[in-house]
Parts: sequence; structure tokens; C-alpha cells
Amino acid sequence: MRWRVEDTPERAAFRGEFKAWLESVLPPGWVEALDAEDDEAFAAARDGFNPFAWTGVIGRTAYAAPLWPKEYGGLSGEPWMQQIVREELSDHRLPVFGINLLGVGLAGPTIIAHGSAQQKSRYLPKILSGEEIWCQLFSEPGSGSDLASLATRAVRDGDEWIVNGEKVWTSIAQFSTFGMLLARTDPDVSKHDGLSYFIVDMHSPGIEIRPLRQITGSADFSEVFFTELRVPDANRIGEAGEGWRYARTTLMNERVALSGLSIDAVSLTGGVRRDAWEAALEQVPDRRDPLVRQDLALIYSRQEAKEITAFRASAARLAGQVPGAEGGISKVFNAELNQYRSNALLDAGGLASIAWPIESVAVAAGAAAAQGRAQSLLRARANTIEGGTSEVLRNQIAERVLGLPRDPDVDRDVPWSHSRR
Ligand SMILES: Cc1cc2nc3c(=O)[nH]c(=O)nc-3n(C[C@H](O)[C@H](O)[C@H](O)COP(=O)(O)OP(=O)(O)OC[C@H]3O[C@@H](n4cnc5c(N)ncnc54)[C@H](O)[C@@H]3O)c2cc1C
Repeated sequence: MRWRVEDTPERAAFRGEFKAWLESVLPPGWVEALDAEDDEAFAAARDGFNPFAWTGVIGRTAYAAPLWPKEYGGLSGEPWMQQIVREELSDHRLPVFGINLLGVGLAGPTIIAHGSAQQKSRYLPKILSGEEIWCQLFSEPGSGSDLASLATRAVRDGDEWIVNGEKVWTSIAQFSTFGMLLARTDPDVSKHDGLSYFIVDMHSPGIEIRPLRQITGSADFSEVFFTELRVPDANRIGEAGEGWRYARTTLMNERVALSGLSIDAVSLTGGVRRDAWEAALEQVPDRRDPLVRQDLALIYSRQEAKEITAFRASAARLAGQVPGAEGGISKVFNAELNQYRSNALLDAGGLASIAWPIESVAVAAGAAAAQGRAQSLLRARANTIEGGTSEVLRNQIAERVLGLPRDPDVDRDVPWSHSRR
């Protein structure tokens, strides 16, 4: 079942306008193929469609960020507008965030909340248009879950800051124009109080990016080294020493972006079906197998629970509530569901899931599907780590939702320079 916001006349009018625009920019045959549930026609309509270019097409309209202020490319709109845009994008099998997820989902909201007027007008429009891709320079080899303990140092030198240190897990660093950098500017106060937040030009001298290859074969994230990197003070967001507060805005938005809202971000590789899982199931040799059926029932019920939870969260946002701990709940639930689902699909595919023939054209499609299942299983391992691990998010839910005692943190109130690291 699909959970959707109810259309009032005003909402229906907005939906109609957006849909008309969308259908006017999509390649010929796209909408017809979806209506007819014709995978072949859909693949033909999508042939040559470029996701990078798509980000620019929607990014030059206010539909890309209905909640952003009008002067920076948004609509100064209401949450229901964003919800409708997401629903329609998903119905048309288009990605919700596009290629610049970290820019639109994380950097943009942080700059809107804490940046200067000059920073807003310089960076926000190009985030939306996808002309400038962003990455997040937070995690370090010694600081992930306990992010506030990070060691990258920024020292003031006139109108600049000199940065030395190392980041890791930096997704899409090698393709980014700018990075959101959290660095320590005062080591002699407690770990949360000595941080500052900077915008870093990723092409500056003093930055070395070393992509890391994963078990999936691709290199989605990198190690990033800073050696005497000079960052203008004009690139500091907000006050020095207040970086942790701004980072929390980024992290809260990250959880929402990764929590798979009621309308999932869909990849541009899917078929006409809304849920890639349904399409993948068609490749499963025996759907009458009782163990496969048991998994199907479990996954179906969990997906419904996920949709209802996300729908409740978006209903709260429509009612004007600020997104809260639901982001963490949905993030944990989605991450674990995705892992369960990719395991189940691999199991259901039997031997074909782990050994696929590649020698004949006739089996190529099946082989690609099997390879896709194996690939999903491997990629899904990251879901319970990226954007905060499930253990740490459970701690936060326990504290902030259930009101249980805080996780002990012995270094919380000692100067960072005296903390155990
Ligand atoms: C695919 C991927 C992409 C990423 N992209 C980015 C990015 O673009 N930018 C960025 O800055 N970071 C990124 N990250 C980093 C991510 O935020 C961290 O990996 C995550 O926060 C965990 O930190 P860690 O890896 O240092 O693990 P650790 O913090 O060392 O944790 C190790 C284990 O200990 C557990 N643990 C730690 N503390 C507690 C606690 N208090 N209670 C219970 N258990 C605990 C954890 O759950 C985990 O199982 C990415 C990670 C992945 C996997």
C-alpha cells in the first residue's frame, strides 16, 4: 500500500503544475512506458538520459528545494510542497536528491541555518544546479562515532586558517568542488567547544585525496590529507568555537536524507516498478519455496512498517513540527531492512547469486541481475555504519526519545588536549 499526503485543492493544484513541468522535460515515451508498465519501452526512453544533466535541469527550478528561501533558488514553501515533489519524482522513477545529495541534503540546510548572506548567495544556487558538488569532511581515523574528539587542527593566521590533519570515509571527495570541514581551533577547551566549521575548496594546494577501493569494486570514498592548507577566514561558517552546533544541523539533516523518506530515492537503473525489490524478485527461481515465502512476508510487513513510520514523520512535518528523533529511528530501521532484504534476495536466487555465467548473450541479462544482487548485498554492509552506526543511533534514541540515562562519556568536560584518545 502507498502512504501519501492527502491532496487539498491547493496541494492538488501544486501537484498538477509540478507534474506538467516534469512531463514537459522528460524524454519522449518515458511517461507512456511507466503508464503501460513496459520495462522495454522504459529502458528505451531512458537510453542516453544523464543523471548529472538531470540534476541541473531540476536544479535550475525552484522545485529542487521548495523549502529553501526564494532568493536562493527555492520556493520559501511549506513541507507539503517538498513531499509532493518527492512523491511525483518517485512516481516518475527519478532520484529525489540527485547526484549532489550531500550538497542539497546537508551543506545547503547548514548554510541556510548558519551561513552569512554572502555565503548563501555564493554557494546555494550552485548546489541546487549541481554545478558544484559537495563532500563532508567530518570523520577521521580516530573519530567517527565520537566525532567531537576529532584532531584535524586549524590555526588562525591573519585572514586565513592553516589546516593540518587527516579525514577518512569522505564520500565523493574526488568529484567535489567544496567540502564541509569540521576542525579543531581550540584544543584547550572541552572537545565540543573547540571546533569550527569551514567551507573548503577541494582543489586548493595542500589537499591530497586518495580514493579507497571497497569490496564492491568501486571507490566511493577517500582518505583526505591536509598539509598546510590555507582556508580564508571568509569561509568560516558562523562563530569560531561553535562548529559543533553547526555540525549537528548537518548531522540531523544527514539522518533525514539517509532515512529513506516515505518516498524512496530511486536509482536511475531501476525498471518501471517503484520498488526495485519487486523487479528483482522476478529473477528468483522458485518463489514457492516456503523459506523464500517466509522472507517475503517478513520483508513486506517491515516495508509497510517503514512506510507508516516515515509517513507519520512527514505528517508531523506537514503539521509544522521540526524533524526530531524519527530521523534516527527510520535510519536504523531502513539500514537493517535493506541488509535483510539484500541477504534474502541473494539466498532466494540460490547458486545463481554467487556464480553467474557470462559466456553467452542469452544469459547476460540473468547474469547482470545476479551480479546486481551480489553487489547490493556487499554495498548494504555500509548502511548500518554510514551516517551514524545503528548502535550509536540506538543510544541516541534511548536518550532522546525514551529518556534513558546518557551513554557515559568520561571526556565530555575535560579540555580536549587532556582527553584520552
Ligand atoms: C559508505 C560510508 C560513507 C561514509 N561517508 C562519510 C562522509 O562522506 N563523510 C564523513 O565525514 N564520514 C563518512 N562516513 C563515516 C561514518 O560516519 C563513520 O564510519 C561512522 O560514524 C562510524 O565511525 P567509525 O567508522 O569511526 O567507527 P567507530 O566509531 O570506531 O565505531 C566502531 C564500532 O563501535 C561501535 N560504537 C562506537 N561507539 C559506541 C557507543 N558509544 N556505544 C555503542 N557502540 C559504539 C560502533 O557502532 C561500531 O560498531 C561514511 C561511512 C561509510 C561506511
